[in-house]
Amino acid sequence: MGVEQRQRVAIVGGSMAGLFAAVFLRRRGFRVDVYERAPDLADRGAGIVTHDLLYDALRRAGVTLRPDMGIRSVGRMMLDAQGDVIGTYDMPQIMTSWGLIYRFLREQLPADCYHPGVSLGGIEAGRASATAVFDNGERVEADWVVAADGVQSTLRGLVAPEVGPMYCGYYIWRGLIDETRVPPAVLDELAGRLVFGMAPGGHWLGYLVAGPRDELVVGQRRYNWAWYRSGDESVLRELLTDASGRHHPAGIPHDRIRSELRDAMRAEAARLLSPQMQTVIGATPAPFLQPIYELGSERLVFGRVAVIGDAAFTARPHVGMGVSKAADDAATLAEALCAENPEAAVEAWETQRLGYGRAVLDWGRDLGSYIGPPPRDAAHRAKAEYYQRPEVLMSVTAASDPAPFLSS
Ligand SMILES: Cc1cc2nc3c(=O)[nH]c(=O)nc-3n(C[C@H](O)[C@H](O)[C@H](O)COP(=O)(O)OP(=O)(O)OC[C@H]3O[C@@H](n4cnc5c(N)ncnc54)[C@H](O)[C@@H]3O)c2cc1C
Repeated sequence: MGVEQRQRVAIVGGSMAGLFAAVFLRRRGFRVDVYERAPDLADRGAGIVTHDLLYDALRRAGVTLRPDMGIRSVGRMMLDAQGDVIGTYDMPQIMTSWGLIYRFLREQLPADCYHPGVSLGGIEAGRASATAVFDNGERVEADWVVAADGVQSTLRGLVAPEVGPMYCGYYIWRGLIDETRVPPAVLDELAGRLVFGMAPGGHWLGYLVAGPRDELVVGQRRYNWAWYRSGDESVLRELLTDASGRHHPAGIPHDRIRSELRDAMRAEAARLLSPQMQTVIGATPAPFLQPIYELGSERLVFGRVAVIGDAAFTARPHVGMGVSKAADDAATLAEALCAENPEAAVEAWETQRLGYGRAVLDWGRDLGSYIGPPPRDAAHRAKAEYYQRPEVLMSVTAASDPAPFLSS
């Protein structure tokens, strides 16, 4: 069957990978529907560091790039625990936000092909199709079903139950606050750069991003920060347990985080972090927690199901490549599905994307080698010592050109 005959693709997950897949597939003539579990995804509130790979992906998806994709940063800066600058590194970049990219991509799609509040529960394989079964009882038979449902993917769990996310032995405390909450003198010191600070067990970083409705003007932006902290499985369990004793292994909702955990984090920040960062954390009403997981797949194609984005490979966030990798997965899959012999092309796609995914995963492990469990051996120790050197940390984290790091 040719694409002219409007093959149908059902996409599970309506975040970055799902949206890119929908846009690229529609442009190639597929009939596409996106099923997203969350009723409203519009503001997940994460900062995203941009680079050429991401811009290329957005351009290919038909997004008209504007000079104001986010907040300009001239480079990086490292503070010591006293708040003094111990290093700078020039690397002009735009700091954008998850929400801004989400809205750009949603604009490329007709509203009736995006179905929020619908959760996949099952999958049935046919000879030349697959049927996605949703928790609301809906059944959708499609020529292809794309799993774009993230690191905890339900669909991947059904077709490849042996693959699952691995906790990296560290987590982050995060916050995203109106810039007006930060005292002007502190904001002046932090604005205009991606700022890092070393701390025992992991660094912190922060940067300005657009406001909730993509505002870029001074006074309406937000400050995005994260503090990496080492903690084994038992620490994680404690952090993900709410006041009623309920454990939330897939991530604790922000309003269930126990207040004494936030108080303890603030007390440690006062002991370990620079005064500027203490001020930012103090100004954040409700810092939230995110465990750091990684995931690698051995296969990406299961009959008529293809797995992309974080559902396929989740690298540690230091690489800053999750969105561009999701876009590449989607663009190359759309190309393969249009080939004269899609089965063979999808097989070749799988081999290529497995190689790329492993390279990104390994790169994330290198960058995070000094956070989490103590070094296993001399090679790990050497790596950990190298990657926590301020000049290295500043130059490689979410680099403006990540491609060269993936070739080794
Ligand atoms: C702290 C942090 C900082 C980061 N910084 C950057 C950065 O600077 N640059 C960058 O490129 N990347 C960054 N990333 C990574 C990036 O956010 C992810 O790689 C990207 O969001 C992956 O997109 P995805 O669509 O594959 O998965 P997700 O964004 O996780 O989306 C999966 C979607 O599937 C939905 N879903 C789940 N289960 C079901 C179901 N059963 N049925 C229907 N829908 C379902 C979910 O609701 C969700 O919307 C960062 C990540 C973290 C944690």
